[in-house]
Amino acid sequence: MAEALLEVRGVSRAYHSGAGEIVVLKDVSLRIQTGEFIAIIGPSGSGKSTLMNILGCLDRPTGGSYLVNGNATEEMRSDDLARLRREHFGFIFQRYNLMEDLSATENVALPAIYAGVGVEARNARARTLLEKLGLGERTSNKPSQLSGGQQQRVSIARSLMNGGVIILADEPTGALDHASGQQVMEELRRLHAQGKTVVLVTHDAAIAANAPRVIELSDGCIVSDSGGGGRSAQCAEALNDPDLPLARTSRSRLDVVREAAGMAVRSMLSHRLRTLLTMLGIIIGVAAVVSVVALGKGAQSQVESQINELGASTLEVFPGSDFGDPRSAEIETLVVGDANHLGELSYVDSVSPNLSGSVAALQGSRRANTQVLGVGAELPRVRGMRLLAGRFFTEAEVEAHRAVGVIDQKAASALFSGSPIGSTLLLGSMPVEVIGVVGASAFAGSATPTVYVPHTSAASRLLGSQRLESITVRVRDNVSTKAAEVLLRAELQHRHGTNDFFIYNSDQIRKAVMKSSQTMAALVSAIAAVALIVGGVGVMNIMLVSVKERVREIGVRLAVGARQGDILRQFLIESALICLFGGVLGILFAFCVGALSRLMSLGVPFQFTAWPVIGALACSSAIGLGFGYFPARSAAQLDPIEALTAD
Ligand code: ADP
Ligand code: MG
Repeated sequence: MAEALLEVRGVSRAYHSGAGEIVVLKDVSLRIQTGEFIAIIGPSGSGKSTLMNILGCLDRPTGGSYLVNGNATEEMRSDDLARLRREHFGFIFQRYNLMEDLSATENVALPAIYAGVGVEARNARARTLLEKLGLGERTSNKPSQLSGGQQQRVSIARSLMNGGVIILADEPTGALDHASGQQVMEELRRLHAQGKTVVLVTHDAAIAANAPRVIELSDGCIVSDSGGGGRSAQCAEALNDPDLPLARTSRSRLDVVREAAGMAVRSMLSHRLRTLLTMLGIIIGVAAVVSVVALGKGAQSQVESQINELGASTLEVFPGSDFGDPRSAEIETLVVGDANHLGELSYVDSVSPNLSGSVAALQGSRRANTQVLGVGAELPRVRGMRLLAGRFFTEAEVEAHRAVGVIDQKAASALFSGSPIGSTLLLGSMPVEVIGVVGASAFAGSATPTVYVPHTSAASRLLGSQRLESITVRVRDNVSTKAAEVLLRAELQHRHGTNDFFIYNSDQIRKAVMKSSQTMAALVSAIAAVALIVGGVGVMNIMLVSVKERVREIGVRLAVGARQGDILRQFLIESALICLFGGVLGILFAFCVGALSRLMSLGVPFQFTAWPVIGALACSSAIGLGFGYFPARSAAQLDPIEALTAD
C-alpha cells in the first residue's frame, strides 16, 4: 500500500480537568491520501475540531501516533511542527482569525513572512491570490471593512499563501449566510480540483455532501467512513502553483530582525494610547535622569568657574579652630592690624580683610535685601575681580571711612533701572555713593545682591563690630602656596601668642567642593537608576497585559507557521523599541525643560552633554530587552491551540 500523506494510528486525546480525565478522541485511525476531499461530520462536541487540530500539528495526541508523509510527529520539536504548519498546511477557521490591524493583503501574506519571503514578492502573490478569489478590489481593506464571506475568502487566500498541499477547514461556513457559504464551498471544490488535499469539518450533512469521502465522528470515535480512497500521483502533477515565490532557505539575521521590527512598529502605531502609556514610565525616568545629570553638570561647572575666579594662590584666614567651631564668633583677635601686617610681608601680593552683614538697601522707591561686604581696596586684585563700570574704592577712601560702594550686577538690576554710577544708595541708615559695578561673584554669595564698601565704614557705621570674619591673602606668583601658608601661620601665631585661627588654601576649598559634588553625582545617579528600573517594571507590567490581550494574535501567528523564536523576537523587539522611543521622548522632554528654563531665565544651569544622552538611550533599550524578556518568553511559550481558542 502506498504511503499515506497523513496517517492517524490509534490516536487518543484526553484532557485533564478538575474531576479527572476527559477522553475526547478514542483510538482513532485514519489514512488520508494526496488529493482527497474529506468531510468530517458529527454532532457538536464529538471531537471534530480536536481531530482537526491534531491533523494540522496545532495539537499533539496524548496516545497513538500521527505521521505526515511517513514521519512521526511525536518526536518532533515545536519548531519542526511550526515548519509543517508553515509549509504543508493551510488553515481556514470558522471565526476567520484574521488580524484586525492588517490589510487583506498583509493578512494573506503573513505565512510568507515566517517562510522568509521578501516583502514585495509576498505582497504580489497575496494580491494575485485575492484577485483569484474575487477580492481584487479589497486588497487594502482591513477585516472590519469586509463582510463575513469576504473575510473567509481572505482566510482561504492565506491558507494558500505558502503553497501548502493540505487545506484544513474547520466549519468554514459556520458563521456565514447561505449564499456566502455556497461561495466558500465552491472555492474549496475548485482547490480540490486543482489537486489540493482538503479536509473539511462540519456538522451540516448538506455541506458534507460536497465531499466524495465522509467520515462520521461520534463521541470521539469514527462510526462510519465512506472510504473513497485517494487519487494517485497524477493529481500531484496538477498541483503546480506558478507564481509561488521562492522562500529563502536561510533567512539572514538582519532580515529577521527587520521583519520583527516592522511588525513591532505596526503594532505600536495601531495601539498608540497603549504604547504611550507603556512608554510613560521610561519617558519620565529618562527625562529625570538626563535633566538631573545636566543640572549637576551645570552646577558643577558654575562652582568650578567660581573657584577658578578665586585664583590658584590665595589663602583664607579664619578665626577659630575650623569651620563650625562654636567659639569662633567670640574670637575677636583677628583684626585689621593683622591684615595690614600680612600685607607688608615679602611673599604676599595683596590682602583684604573681610566682614559682612545683611542690610536692607533703598534706592528711590526700590528696596532690596543686600549682603554688605566690608573689604579692603586691594580686593579686586586679591580675587581677580573684573569691574564692569566705574572704579573700585582706593586705600585713601578706606582710611577716611568714606561712604562709597561698589555693587554687583544683581544689586544693579534689583535697585537701578539706569546707570547706577554716581547715584546714592541708602544702606540701612548710611547713604552710600555708588562708584562702580562688578560681575556677580560666587564668594560674595551669588544668590543675593551684594554691595562692597570699605571695611572701615562697614565696621564703624554699619555693622558696629571690629571683628573680622576672614582675611584673604593672595600669595606672590613665584611663591609656593604651601610654603606661604607655613610662614603665615608662624607669623600670626607669633602676633597672637596662640593658635586661635585656621587657614584654608584655594586648593583645599576646590577639593572640598569637588568631593561634595561627586557625592551629589553618586546620589543623583542612584536615584536615576531607581527611576529607570521603576520605568522598566512598568514596561514589563504592560507588556504582560499586552501579551494576554494578544493571545489570539499569537495563536494565529503560530498556526500559520511562526516559530517560538519569531514570537519571542517580535515581543522583545517591541518592548526594546517602546523603551528606545520612550527614551528619545524623555530626552526631548528634558531638552524642552532646559530650553524653557533658559527662556524664562530661571537661573537653573542645565548643561546637556552627549554621554548622558547616549547612555540614557542605551540604558532604556537595555531595559526594554531586559524587562521585555519575561513577557516575550511567556508569549512564545503559549500553546498554539490554547492561544487560538482563547477569548
Ligand atoms: P467539536 O469540534 O466536534 O464540536 P471539539 O473537538 O471542539 O468538538 O471538542 C470535543 C470535546 O472536548 C468537547 O466536549 C469539549 O468540551 C472538550 N474539550 C475541548 N477542548 C478542551 C480543553 N482544552 N479542555 C477540556 N475539554 C476540552
Ligand atoms: Mg468544533
